[in-house]
Amino acid sequence: MQKQISMMVGPTAIPERVLSAMNRPAISHRSKEYDQVQKNVTDNLKKLFGTQNDVLVVTTSGTGAMEACLTNCFSPGDKVVVPVSGKFSAQYAEICKLFGLEVIEVPFEWGTTVDVEQVMAVVDADTKGVFLTHNESSTGVFNDAEAFGAALRDTETLLVLDSVSGVGGLELKFDEWGIDVAFTASQKCLMAPPGLSFITLSDKAWKKVDEAQFTTYYFDFKEYRDYNKQDETPATPAVYTLFAVEEALEMIMEEGVENVYKRHQENTQILRQGLKELGFDLFVKDEKFASPTLTSVYLPNQAKRYAAELAKRNVIINTGINKLANDIIRIGVMGYVSKNDVYALLKTLEEIRFDELPYQQAQVG
Ligand SMILES: *Cc1c(COP(=O)(O)O)cnc(C)c1O
Repeated sequence: MQKQISMMVGPTAIPERVLSAMNRPAISHRSKEYDQVQKNVTDNLKKLFGTQNDVLVVTTSGTGAMEACLTNCFSPGDKVVVPVSGKFSAQYAEICKLFGLEVIEVPFEWGTTVDVEQVMAVVDADTKGVFLTHNESSTGVFNDAEAFGAALRDTETLLVLDSVSGVGGLELKFDEWGIDVAFTASQKCLMAPPGLSFITLSDKAWKKVDEAQFTTYYFDFKEYRDYNKQDETPATPAVYTLFAVEEALEMIMEEGVENVYKRHQENTQILRQGLKELGFDLFVKDEKFASPTLTSVYLPNQAKRYAAELAKRNVIINTGINKLANDIIRIGVMGYVSKNDVYALLKTLEEIRFDELPYQQAQVG
């Protein structure tokens, strides 16, 4: 029997300590005990977001946060710009269209980073928002949020950042970089079960919340802001997921935020280097913008086969999504992944590769 190695891109592996933190009696979400948990979570999340602003706790997956940020900060007919370079940025463009915004998509080849100048070329005084994916989990690239922040700093345009697979593994300096709205979710780098999203807004964004014309009851950020003053939420939150996030953040703080980022970078370097040495084709060529939280390997028409072979050996990764479903595998070093896990994955891939040579030759012949 072989110990399971989870290197998924979300939901990610949950440490024993985090699992244990959920093994406790139920508490009221209107109690001092609960308030302390939410306060611990939001205090620590502020450090990961790099903000002094409130962090809202919203019971929904990352997709729910995407929609909530749109309906709270924008109005029907608003012109927005969405650079599209993968599944998640494409999804944001789709949500914007569904809500009747005027969407200008700026397409980039999947697997490349988005170019700030090309995007800014279509941004004008009427542009109400730019929606940027911090870390495109469908391809394995991160985008330069800081450069977008700088480009939009003295404008009325809001910079909305989807950092669902970034926060906790990829550096974010919300206040310093001039981001206006950012969100993440519990099940990626935060090493917890799914169920919660965390959202922060700049003063500039809060002003837009007052003007926005969409109607939303459950996702009304103003309600969340009011309840947040007493470290509570308007409706019943996913309390057990919050217990988990509290413990996971404690682990992150014990390791040290900088060390956590460094571990993600080092694991990614070892992984990319090892894959190259084994002769695998990295999907993202640009070292500078290769995501520190996941790595994609280009395996045309073979991705599902590789994922299945790895799974047989108890190594769990993901295949691609949408048009890349059977062409890439995606390997996460998000959250609870050690160097040993990376070496074990590489070793297993080497075995599979070796096993497969006759098959490949058969295909060619
Ligand atoms: C996972 C992910 C989402 C969607 O989050 P869900 O929790 O699955 O709804 C959105 N954006 C990015 C970049 C993601 O990685």
